[in-house]
Amino acid sequence: MRTVNGVNGPIDGGDLGVTLPHEHVFINMTPTTPADGYLNVWSDVESELGLFRAAGGRTIVDLTNGELSDHAAPVFWGDGAYDFAQNRVTGSRSPANVLATKAMAEATGLNVVLGTGHYYQHYLDTEWWDRTSTNQVADFLIRDLVDEIPGTGVKAGLLGEIASDLPWITPAEERSFRAAARAQRETGVLLSTHAPTFPTGLAQLEILREEGVDPERVVVGHADTVKSLDYSLAVLATGAYVQYDCMMTCRAGGALVLPEIERRIDYLKAVVDAGHGRKVLLSHDVCQRSHMASRGGAGFTFLFEEFLPRAVAAGIDPEVMTQIVSENPRRALLGE
Ligand SMILES: [Zn+2]
Repeated sequence: MRTVNGVNGPIDGGDLGVTLPHEHVFINMTPTTPADGYLNVWSDVESELGLFRAAGGRTIVDLTNGELSDHAAPVFWGDGAYDFAQNRVTGSRSPANVLATKAMAEATGLNVVLGTGHYYQHYLDTEWWDRTSTNQVADFLIRDLVDEIPGTGVKAGLLGEIASDLPWITPAEERSFRAAARAQRETGVLLSTHAPTFPTGLAQLEILREEGVDPERVVVGHADTVKSLDYSLAVLATGAYVQYDCMMTCRAGGALVLPEIERRIDYLKAVVDAGHGRKVLLSHDVCQRSHMASRGGAGFTFLFEEFLPRAVAAGIDPEVMTQIVSENPRRALLGE
């Protein structure tokens, strides 16, 4: 692939620039995080993304999947003219979420690449999964990628975040991975996962490989929340990308959380020293109000302002760090 679908059409690899590969522009996590897990205020998001742009950022990969897009748009956005709910037939992202995100890309001058797919068990409409075959789910994902996210005229650019959340993968989640795998094989796009806390990225990869997906087209997400370097190395041994994307835990309430920063730098240095510098990705996963810089969180610039200088001071080659935040996401998105 020479281009990737952005909200405003195909983006050339050369235009991607500094890219955050796992973020959320608008998101609704209130089913699990009712007090904090809702980003839907236009002016807040616009100023946070403006800081990213000012820091040299160019592209946001927005992995708000179907479930996370439900009512994830500014209140009264578009005078309520759009459907704010996740698509009840296809499971696709809500039109309001997609179109508000597209408008935000235009307002900030950033590229935004949208994911499509399904979140974890707690968020899944089990009746929809019961009456929709795995191949049908795959077909809906393919349509989001090659035709449009229904009602938006906008195409998704990758699959994600495709999720399981606990030490096991539930039957519906397994079907979600199989459907995403089939859509990946049909389209060739990148498939990005949510695998926090437990070493389940390996089980996710097993399902994807059973379906014939090349691990080189897979990003195992949230690997920095699994407190084991061996896990990262095991994921990398398959050929998949490992993603340290929960940098939002590194600053809270205006204060740096040093153990979280130091552990990530230790892991990053180890995987780079082991020769995997081309297969690691970094991001913040801003998904709650408290993650915003204006509320003392990491925002979209912690990586550049705090993490990179510390990583270089710890002995990681600055050129490798530059490659990690620009070349690696480009190669992953385009399959180079
Ligand atoms: Zn996630």
